[in-house]
Parts: sequence; C-alpha cells; structure tokens
Amino acid sequence: MNYSMHKQERSIFVGELQQHVDQSRRGGSLLGVLLIHLHRIVELNTSFGYQAGDRLIATVRDRIAKILRPHDSIHRIGDHDFALVLPSPKNVGHAKLAANRIVDILEEPFEIDDNSIKAQAAIGISLFPEHAQDADALLRLADIALTNAIKSNSPIILCADVRDKDAVSSFIIESELRHALMSDEFVLYYQPKINLATRQVCGAEALSRWRNPARGFVPPDVFIPVAEQTNLMLPFTLWSLNLASRQFGEFHRLHKHFSVAVNLSATVLYDADVVDLIHRTIKIWGIPPEQLILEVTESAMMVDPKTSLETLRRFHDLGVKLAIDDFGTGYSSLAYVKKLPVDELKIDKSFVLNMDKDKGDAMIVRTVIDMAHNFEIAVTAEGVESQPILEQLGELGCDCAQGFHMAKPMPATDLIRWLQESPWSLHTGTQAMAG
Ligand code: C2E
Ligand code: CA
Ligand code: CA
Repeated sequence: MNYSMHKQERSIFVGELQQHVDQSRRGGSLLGVLLIHLHRIVELNTSFGYQAGDRLIATVRDRIAKILRPHDSIHRIGDHDFALVLPSPKNVGHAKLAANRIVDILEEPFEIDDNSIKAQAAIGISLFPEHAQDADALLRLADIALTNAIKSNSPIILCADVRDKDAVSSFIIESELRHALMSDEFVLYYQPKINLATRQVCGAEALSRWRNPARGFVPPDVFIPVAEQTNLMLPFTLWSLNLASRQFGEFHRLHKHFSVAVNLSATVLYDADVVDLIHRTIKIWGIPPEQLILEVTESAMMVDPKTSLETLRRFHDLGVKLAIDDFGTGYSSLAYVKKLPVDELKIDKSFVLNMDKDKGDAMIVRTVIDMAHNFEIAVTAEGVESQPILEQLGELGCDCAQGFHMAKPMPATDLIRWLQESPWSLHTGTQAMAG
C-alpha cells in the first residue's frame, strides 16, 4: 500500500467489503470500489494545524455522503483516504460517473477557519467481477489505479486503464487464480509416456489446465508464470499432486507399474517445507514412492544449484523418482547432472521436433542419450510427433518417448479408456510392435 491506510482500518474494511462481494456474487450484480485520496491534507495540517485538517476531512465526508444513493457507503480508511462502495452499478460508466461527480463537488472550495481551501482528490476504481473476485484483490487493484492517478496527475483512473498493462493483467490473473483454486476450475490432463523397448505405455505426465468461465481455456504457459510470482504455487502444486494421487489408483488398477509425473516449479523447489508436504501427501494416498516422478526443469535447479541438490537428495531419500525437464535448454552440464540423484533426463522438445531433418538436433539428442546412459540415467524424448522420429529415437537407444504422435494430453477418464484400447496399451501392446 503506498497510500496511508492503517492496517487495522484496512482489515475491518476488507471484511465489510467481502460481505458486499459475497452479496453481489449471490445476486449476480456488479460492485464498484472507489479509493479517494485527498491531496493537500499534509500541506493543510502544516499551515493551519491538525484540527483544520480534521475539519476538512469531516466536511469532505459530509459532502460526498450527500450525493450517495441509499445503499452506497463511504469509509474512512486512512489519514487522507476514503473508500466508497457502490453496490450494483449498472456498468463501468456508472462507477466513473460517480467518481466524476465526487471530483466535481470537491472542486468547490471549503471554508475552514475563514480560509477558502480546495481539497483536490484522485480516485482509483475497480469493479467486481470484471477485475477481481475478492475484496482484497479489488482493493489492491483500486490502489494500483489510484497510485497511477496520483503519479500521472489525473483525477480518475479505472484499474483497467492503468498504463502498466502487464502489472494489471497479471494481477487480475493472480486474483482469479486464487479464486480458481478454491472453485475447482483447474483440471489435470495426462500425457502417456511410451517405453521404446517394449513399445508399451509406462506412465503419464500430469499437465494442468485452467477452464475459466469468463476467459475460457487458459494454457499453462500463461498462468504458471503468473502463479510462480505469487505464493500460490505451493498450494497449486499440492492440489495437483493430491488430484494425481487420487486418480493414480485407477491407472494403477489397469497397469501395475504405471508411474505418474508431476511438474515442480522453481518457487516450489526452494520452499523449505516442500519435501515434508509431498512426503505427507504420498503417504496419505499410499502411492508407492518409486511410481511418482517429480519433474524439475534444468533452469529451476540452476537458480541455486547447491540448495536444489540438497532438496533433490531429500526427495531421493523418500524413494521418489526425479526427472530433469527441458534438458538442453539451460546451462547445466552433464558433469553437473552426474552429481544429482536423478533417474531421468527429458530432452527438450525443441531438439526432438525436427531431429529427422536437422542433423545438429539429431547429434544433440544422440550425445545426451549416450552420456546419460554412461551415468545410468534414463532418457525420455518429448515432442515426438511422427513415426520416423519415434524409430530414430529407438535406434539411438532412447528409453522413453512422449508426444502427440502417440497421444496428446487428455483428461483422466479418457486416459483410462486409452489405457484399455490404445495400440500402446498393455492389452494390445503387441500390435504396436509393428509401429
Ligand atoms: P512441459 O513440462 O515441458 O510439458 C510438455 C509440454 O509439451 C506440454 O504442454 C505438452 O502438451 C506439450 N507437448 C507434448 N507432446 C508434444 C508434441 O508432440 N508436440 C508439441 N509441440 N508439444 C507437445 P502444456 O501442457 O501446454 O504445458 C506447458 C508447460 O507448462 C509444461 O511444459 C510445464 O512446464 C508447465 N506446466 C503444465 N502443467 C503444470 C503444472 O501442473 N505445474 C507446473 N509447475 N508446471 C506445469
Ligand atoms: Ca514436464
Ligand atoms: Ca518439458
């Protein structure tokens, strides 16, 4: 908060605002939040004394209160600040109109102790549900807008009009993510992995998908980076591990040696509690640790190689398998990998997609496979989109393959059917030997 809202006032107000939000959600109506900052109070306090400042604040409040509709409410939330809650504005224009009206009535000079004083205000606006889903987020967005209004010397700014679009849009995604996590908007898709020696499925990677009622399908490439900048990544990872563990039971029934891979992002890797939390989850679900694979990207590990090595060792001690994801895109050498207790390297799809045409790519894939095997690490190629590439990987001695050619990521129910019907499944596996 860069304006002076007292902590206690803020938390009382957030509680009240949340009740308004809940009411609006139930009633399917909008809710507007206006943060009003009075510019010249400090100046006034110094020239005319605090009492003059207090009287001005009280008069401002009265003036604003006079133009409010019956259900609107005004709250003093800081030395120089008010918040206005507008239940059921018809649209954004309505909230802007209220803000304009306030700027207008504050233009009229105030008579304080025989002095004629102009108050001058800046206003930041946010709207439920368009901009945020809960009170805290609405307030923070209105604050971003207000700060922007003060800086740019404009009387009124709507949070959606703030110049720094990236800050606002990732903020909106963040608040929606928080909401999505509580309201089951995320689902896990699974992409099968094939053992190249047996030509049979050996497991699947869990990949999250976000179905947002307003935005539609949001790909993980968009929401994971935003989630990584928040403290949501650990709860999100635990959510996915829990769901994957629950669904694992069904896959396990069809395939005794089936493994499930879950992605761990950098922020989670460096959380001091992550090993214990994951340990507890797999114990609760009774997952055989060796059938859980944790995928960590090469770049995540390089943020702090020493700490990540310690964490990976602790995971290894639990008996879970570790894979290095997107291998080849970072700067880690195989010499570094040798020191890690990893079981698998996943060659990044950028080397695999064109390896049948690009000799350089094929050479990289071959080198990674040979060196990994020297260290007794298995290799999975991701991004296998064609039969020729699958054959080429088989000839190079690659252990596993994952890609659209065999199967795209799919919901758990589809995977269950796929495990029974696909040419790569255990039951029909012999047909797949022919390719
Ligand atoms: P990733 O871990 O490298 O996952 C593989 C990505 O490659 C997936 O994209 C998958 O759909 C895509 N892919 C698989 N086979 C092929 C193929 O043959 N051709 C091509 N062109 N692409 C293929 P997706 O599902 O969009 O996920 C993107 C990234 O988002 C993942 O890359 C991973 O880094 C991240 N991600 C997804 N779900 C999670 C999650 O639950 N937690 C974390 N931390 N990251 C996740
Ligand atoms: Ca992965
Ligand atoms: Ca990858």
